[in-house]
Amino acid sequence: MKKRNKYAPVQKNDMVEVTFEDFTHDGAGVAKINGYPLFVPYGIPGETGKVKVVKTKKNYGFGRLMEIKEESPERIEPLCPIYKQCGGCQLQHMTYEKELQFKHQLVADAIKKIGGLDDVPIHPVIGMEDPWRYRNKAQVPVGTKEDGRLKAGFYQQRTHRIIDMESCLIQEKGNDDAVQIVKNIADKYGIPAYDEKNHRGVLRHIVVRFGKKKDELMIVLITKGKELPHRKKLIENIRKQIPNITSIIQNINPKKTNVIFGEETRVLWGEEYIYDTIGNITFAISARSFYQVNPTQTKVLYEKALEYAALTGKEIVIDAYCGIGTISLFLAQKAKHVYGVEIVPEAIADAKRNAKLNHLEDVVDFVVGEAEKIIPWWYHVLGIQPDVIVVDPPRKGCAETLLETMIDIAPKRIVYVSCNPSTLARDLKILSEGGYEVKEIQPVDMFPRTKHVELVALMSRVDE
Ligand code: SAH
Repeated sequence: MKKRNKYAPVQKNDMVEVTFEDFTHDGAGVAKINGYPLFVPYGIPGETGKVKVVKTKKNYGFGRLMEIKEESPERIEPLCPIYKQCGGCQLQHMTYEKELQFKHQLVADAIKKIGGLDDVPIHPVIGMEDPWRYRNKAQVPVGTKEDGRLKAGFYQQRTHRIIDMESCLIQEKGNDDAVQIVKNIADKYGIPAYDEKNHRGVLRHIVVRFGKKKDELMIVLITKGKELPHRKKLIENIRKQIPNITSIIQNINPKKTNVIFGEETRVLWGEEYIYDTIGNITFAISARSFYQVNPTQTKVLYEKALEYAALTGKEIVIDAYCGIGTISLFLAQKAKHVYGVEIVPEAIADAKRNAKLNHLEDVVDFVVGEAEKIIPWWYHVLGIQPDVIVVDPPRKGCAETLLETMIDIAPKRIVYVSCNPSTLARDLKILSEGGYEVKEIQPVDMFPRTKHVELVALMSRVDE
């Protein structure tokens, strides 16, 4: 028999009746048993139910919701039939209003508890009118079914087992259809799926990217080796069955890895790029370019960042963690000059191309490197004195040395775009202690039906 957990008031496999009091970061329910928190996926605060304890740690445990006794008025039937198996979405079991409220609370809690900031106005989350079918990119692993035919879908939660999927309700419909069409064509011509167990086979992933503005579709076939049997037939059939196809690409990934893309990319048919437009700015998107997945909400987010930057045309602006220059180019329309820095060389190459495409190359400069190294160099060596600094770091937030440099440079305003309220709150605390006041925060729902939140914060220098 397994040892009892002496710290926990409940043990594995116990059935308990609980009331959910709160949400976790992931949107699971939190129930307390004599003060001991139990995290239970799909529990909604206010509900009571029966929970089976599945794991106990010293300070918290996990449970599975077995039965709901008192149901929240915010509970709804998930639209997606494979919601629980997939795990790509976490919040389909509640109304969209509730989801937005949860996301607001998440931000408010982080700002208060981690940031120690009590009086910051946090606006209601800007949601989507229709929070479905917003994703412009699908990346779907391919495998073999028991009957030998191809399957393409998603990895079942916490496994590497591919579940065949007909439709993903947060994907553009055209992307869904394209995945099915390509899968069926590949199946018809007997293209073997890649098998990660023995590192054999051909087709690893089907990637579909959609440029909404001009209705352009790109298909990327990711293969283990250079060889792609029946290449001509594949191309011919894809072109015949997908009317808005503009580019068919092969990417070769020979490695034993979970990373989807390999180093080598070749155009099989059509264009190397598709294009999308956000506001007045057009972006060229190649097979591997990073590009925001929800263009509708990206526009909302960037417009907010631009509003917070309050540009009049005279300002020098730094955009740190600039990716392919999306925010930089948005700001460049209203600034005297924008300097963008980003660590991935290919992203900077895209940023430069996008600057030319939008005739903004004279007002922007893009540099490859670490923001925490390049920005001190710009300031101390080149004497660049920005009026506004915009940062949009990855989940781990800004490097502390960068925050210190920003405090030294002392721009009038700092606009902080973040996908992680915890690290945002940590960084805002440091900036507040360094002479900045957090004026306001605007969360924007870029990823409806999932647990992810995005937000933009405005900070102003407090002049002594
Ligand atoms: N602002 C862009 C991308 C933001 S994602 C947009 O809205 O599209 C964060 C970016 O930070 C990624 O492109 C990542 O490659 C980059 N990055 C990560 N660490 C970095 C560092 N130390 N210095 C500069 N860029 C970095």
